[in-house]
Amino acid sequence: MDGVRNDLDAVDWASTPLGCPKTWPQSLRTTVDIMLGSRFAMWMAWGPDLSFFCNDAYRRDTLGKKYPWALGRPAREVWAEIWDEIGPRIDRVLATGVATWDEGLLLYLERAGYPEETYHTFSYSPLADDQGNTAGMLCVVSEDTDRVIGARRMATLRDLAAATASALTVEECFAQACDELGRNRRDIPFSLFYARPDAALAAVDDLRWEQAAKAELACAVGLDADHPAVFETVAIDDARARWPLSGTEALVDLGDFPALPAGELPESPADALVLPLRTAPHRTPYGWLIIGLNRFRPLDEDYRAFIDLVVGEINAAITAAGVVEGARRRAAELAELDAAKTRFFTNISHELRTPLTLILGPTADLLADRAQPLAERQRKRAEMALRNGERLLGLVNTLLDFSRIQAGRAHCRRQSTDLAQYTAELAAMFESVTTSAGLTLTVATTPLSTQASVDREMWTKIVLNLLSNALKFTFEGGITVELRELGDPPAQDGDGARPWVELVVRDTGIGIAPEDQQHLFERFHRVAGARSRTHEGSGIGLALVAELAALHGGVVEMASTPGVGSSFFVRIPATAAGAASEAEPDGSADGHDGESGVRTAQHFVEEAARWVSDTQAAVANQAPPPSDGAVEPGRERILVVDDNADMRTFLVSLLGDHYEVDIAVDGVQALARARTELPDVVLTDVMMPNLDGFGLLREMAADPALRDVPVIMVSARAGEEGVSRGLEAGATDYVLKPFSARELLARVRATLELDRARRESARTAPQTELLERGQQCARIGFWSVDIATGATSASSGLISMMGMPAEEITALGFEQAVQATVHPEDQHLVFDAVEAGMRGEPVVYTIRLVPPGGGDVRVCEVLAEVEFVDGAPSVIRGFTQDVTHRARA
Ligand code: ADP
Repeated sequence: MDGVRNDLDAVDWASTPLGCPKTWPQSLRTTVDIMLGSRFAMWMAWGPDLSFFCNDAYRRDTLGKKYPWALGRPAREVWAEIWDEIGPRIDRVLATGVATWDEGLLLYLERAGYPEETYHTFSYSPLADDQGNTAGMLCVVSEDTDRVIGARRMATLRDLAAATASALTVEECFAQACDELGRNRRDIPFSLFYARPDAALAAVDDLRWEQAAKAELACAVGLDADHPAVFETVAIDDARARWPLSGTEALVDLGDFPALPAGELPESPADALVLPLRTAPHRTPYGWLIIGLNRFRPLDEDYRAFIDLVVGEINAAITAAGVVEGARRRAAELAELDAAKTRFFTNISHELRTPLTLILGPTADLLADRAQPLAERQRKRAEMALRNGERLLGLVNTLLDFSRIQAGRAHCRRQSTDLAQYTAELAAMFESVTTSAGLTLTVATTPLSTQASVDREMWTKIVLNLLSNALKFTFEGGITVELRELGDPPAQDGDGARPWVELVVRDTGIGIAPEDQQHLFERFHRVAGARSRTHEGSGIGLALVAELAALHGGVVEMASTPGVGSSFFVRIPATAAGAASEAEPDGSADGHDGESGVRTAQHFVEEAARWVSDTQAAVANQAPPPSDGAVEPGRERILVVDDNADMRTFLVSLLGDHYEVDIAVDGVQALARARTELPDVVLTDVMMPNLDGFGLLREMAADPALRDVPVIMVSARAGEEGVSRGLEAGATDYVLKPFSARELLARVRATLELDRARRESARTAPQTELLERGQQCARIGFWSVDIATGATSASSGLISMMGMPAEEITALGFEQAVQATVHPEDQHLVFDAVEAGMRGEPVVYTIRLVPPGGGDVRVCEVLAEVEFVDGAPSVIRGFTQDVTHRARA
């Protein structure tokens, strides 16, 4: 670049009021020199027309396209577009000789072919001629456009981030974003937000989106709702739509839209950008932001970056809000699911109770009938039915209790109770069963300072659930039950005056692993593979205890060390919140008194007694004798494996008539029994303590002595999956509970028969193979033909000689088979020989065999005889030897 100095020389000064530069006053020349030599941007004006001068810096920063045209022109012409702003300032300087000062003054300069929003900090100072009179002005200027606009955009981005960060919903997000964008009407003269109806799901999962056809207006900045550019809905991916909402950004010429707002600019935007909004991993936009563009700023890198950051900020906020909203939605769904589950349990429990009652009533009558007493065997059966029906009723009742509490329909009916004594009585009911299990039971209850008030039936359930769990999972040592008043009521109890009581049930049992402890009080949670006296249980006991304690305003906690033991703590306020007087008097009229508590307790004790006796029976492992008494030698032996004593008794009585039955209570015992005395078939339950049915299968498969024993699995786990899992694991058969006696017997019989056949064929397989091989070596084939039916059997040697399978020979019949395979000239030899055989003579002949499928002719010697039954010919049996090699020799 040649520089302004050269261009100034090129100006035709003579045609300006300043005239030829040689005539210029010294002061003008000096000032021009100073200006040209400075690296600050400067311009100056001199003379009556205020002729325009500038230096290189000014040319570069400010003048743009006006250069070099501007040199020497009247300043008012050069800066015509801003003369209103600067003219008065210049006049003042010239008139007063006092310099001006402006900082960041907005000026719309037309230096780039369009009016441009620019900012300048400048000072005008007077210039004196050689006589000391003001003859012109000098402007030292620094352009601030980038700084001012940069700061403005930064502020918008910062405020946008701050405002949307707190938005919890997508709607809130849009509203906050609109607010903030509305504060910067220079960079964003107007804007519109459109969103899919399901935008809330955007951040969570776009796979769940419906294919939306329209986007809805979320909010607008700078435009009224009834403005013609504002539509309630806009079709998505529709080329005819006024706003093109698609997956890609679009620049829209706004020429067609009437009277758009200008924001804080002199004129409204000429273009708008339509920007798809989407969250990070998703490709489908959840919404669109339409931004009217400031026509006084170029859409340069900075403006673009600003818009991209705005979009990024909104997307980030929507993602966060979407996550919150998604989580809330999922929580609501889960809560609904939980409620549905509770409803389901309540309904199903109710439904189960009616038929159960109708089963239990008549069964009890049957047993109580003195007029027509049952025979011993029938009585045993009816007792078993009654016992198990009652157990089922117990489970159903627990489920119902639990569902009722969860549905908020259970009410705590407190009665004034001597809780120490009541608890001790409950524990005492467990004494005999604990003792017979070989455990100690220590009861340490300290009398409370006041009468407690509790719902007795609920308290019974709390104590006995914990006690029966302790018994279920303890094999050595003992159980301790303690009840005492807590010195300091928990801080969170607002009713600080009332005492709290603590029940502790400790055991020296198997303990609970830390990872299971936290889930223990969730309904249906059970520790997989725990050693226990029984596998019975639903995983609801502890959840119920927790709920019952909560109904009393209390809490449950536990501490446990695997292999050492567990302690469960129940802490409740001794009386109800507020007045203790709400307690009902002892023995209320609705039967909700101690009596039903006692019935509940009996139920628990009976159940526990059953496990204990089961385990003891298992330890002693006395197989009951088969029902007909005598053990026949040679009868097949069945090993029945089940942890439920009633089920074992039932199976033994069912199978005992036909087989010798051995029993085991779990997989471990079953293995030991099977190794002592090999069973012919194992009939095993799936769910058992210690080693379950699958474990047993695995162990048997690994033991060469037991590998071939067929196993029938019996399980209540219905559904294809249970069956196929059993069969995949290697069970021979899988029987679903409930099953009928006949069905089970048939399955056992079929399994035994199959196994016998398998063993037989396994036994004879090597011999058959040897024989076949010998026959092939000797080129001999055996055959027989049933004279009455023509049924033919043939060894593989013969089949290969004849080139025809046995079935085909049978199908053709003897005569035709001969015709099909024997050389025509030799066929009569066969028939003659057979006739002789029928007369009791030996059948001997030599023939040529012509294989029907082609191949070499074989020479064969046949030796056969006819077998007679009751004097009549019945079967021809013989062998054929291939002697071709001999014949050739
Ligand atoms: P259930 O006994 O019907 O399975 P619970 O809710 O009473 O259901 O117990 C849940 C699980 O907690 C049990 O299956 C068992 O694994 C574990 N558990 C409960 N009490 C004890 C205990 N005293 N010792 C060891 N494990 C226990």
